[in-house]
Amino acid sequence: MLKKQEKGGINLWELTIEKAQEGLRTKEFSASELVEAALRNIEELEPKLHAFLTLTPELALEAARTADERIARGEKLLALSGIPCSLKDAILVQGVPCTAGSRMLEHYIAPYDAFVSKKLKEAGAAIMGKTNMDEFGMGASTEHSVFGPTKNPADPERVAGGSSGGSAASVALGECVISLGEDTGGSIRQPASFCGVVGLKPTYGAVSRAGVIALASSLDQVGPFARTARDAEILFNVIRGKDPLDSTSVDCPYKPQTTNYKLQDLRIGVPKEYFAKGLEAGVEKAVRQAIQKFEKAGARVAQIQLPYTEYALAAYYVINMSEASANLARYDGVRYGLHQEESDLLQEYLDSRGAGLGKEVKRRIMLGTYALSAGYYEAYYLKAQKVRSLLKQDFDKAFTAVDVIMGPTSPVLPFRLGERIQDPLAMYLVDAYTVPANVVGLPAISLPAGRVGNLPVGLQVMAPAFAENLLFELGKTFENL
Ligand code: GLN
Repeated sequence: MLKKQEKGGINLWELTIEKAQEGLRTKEFSASELVEAALRNIEELEPKLHAFLTLTPELALEAARTADERIARGEKLLALSGIPCSLKDAILVQGVPCTAGSRMLEHYIAPYDAFVSKKLKEAGAAIMGKTNMDEFGMGASTEHSVFGPTKNPADPERVAGGSSGGSAASVALGECVISLGEDTGGSIRQPASFCGVVGLKPTYGAVSRAGVIALASSLDQVGPFARTARDAEILFNVIRGKDPLDSTSVDCPYKPQTTNYKLQDLRIGVPKEYFAKGLEAGVEKAVRQAIQKFEKAGARVAQIQLPYTEYALAAYYVINMSEASANLARYDGVRYGLHQEESDLLQEYLDSRGAGLGKEVKRRIMLGTYALSAGYYEAYYLKAQKVRSLLKQDFDKAFTAVDVIMGPTSPVLPFRLGERIQDPLAMYLVDAYTVPANVVGLPAISLPAGRVGNLPVGLQVMAPAFAENLLFELGKTFENL
């Protein structure tokens, strides 16, 4: 277990957004002191944790100064004034490197802010840096980062999860209070589960992806990491909403649901397909206990069926690889990325992509290109889209009978570094319970649900589209059960 350390009288790992801002308002500490404490924490932890790829102390200290000036002028704090925050290295922050964990973009400097980065800045967040990730978001352990893996805060011999493992780890031990990640098939929820923090994948379209390096466009969503459901809610409210630069984004019909929510009226569905072969016994026990806590507090729990779950993982990987092959075509060393000068243009493409992209990325580009090619498109991509419709019908039907669906976030506990990296299928299986929410576009949250030994377990809660409010309320309830 990496040590949690107090910095200048501030327990960084215990701070929430509201507690931190309370401390700022009552002058217990200044925003500059808070950011400096977080920077010292980062300096001490990073050699063991490796959550960050780039640090941006100048951005953080500038935001802190602005917050301190607001306080000195007696002005109200903004939603995230002075709050240490990190972003996955797939999200553009103007003037800061954005590598997506790849050699291909090692020297790429973001020319503008992503929509969500702009929102963070406008809300006063102190941007501490960019976090480690599997190359282009392809993976479940951050071991596919060309810059080396992030270690699990509970056990540095184990993975932090992925692909947004750096974001999750940076929040777990107080290097930051909150973080933004991106989830295509579980990349927020699974590392949140592995690191013992809260992670939300919002409804498809709830958050703009303009300025975010794409993996699979019909699946990708940006979302928050935090240590409490309330913090995740605050961060989500900062970043959500319609952006003219992302045509898939919408103004979500979201209302904070604090008054009319009663646990006694809640109907929880537990799909039997989420407690299938491959689920580790310790994870199952912790998740069942978590669901029982809701039941004891008055919620009604019923077993449900989502029969097409069986095909979700296969459909997900066909869609993921197909869309990835289209999205990654731009990294040819001419338009973007690592450039290997050659006299022959074809050779230039081959060498640039050859040297710039890792094994997993090349595997997905090849399989995706194959699945999209004439004659195979119908058999693979189109078929996967049909499975998608059927899976969506499963969920639509389930949500006529229940309000939320609960199960494990990951079938396994954080595994050892190196344990799955040689076997792509073993790595893909880790996503079995997270990919369905992406395939059907629904919101899903991972909540810390206890530990097996020292290793965290996540409870996944899924809800109907745009019912993020309910997920946050349930998260807050669960923290007090
Ligand atoms: N592990 C999944 C994959 O490799 C999810 C990745 C993600 O959500 N970005 O595709």
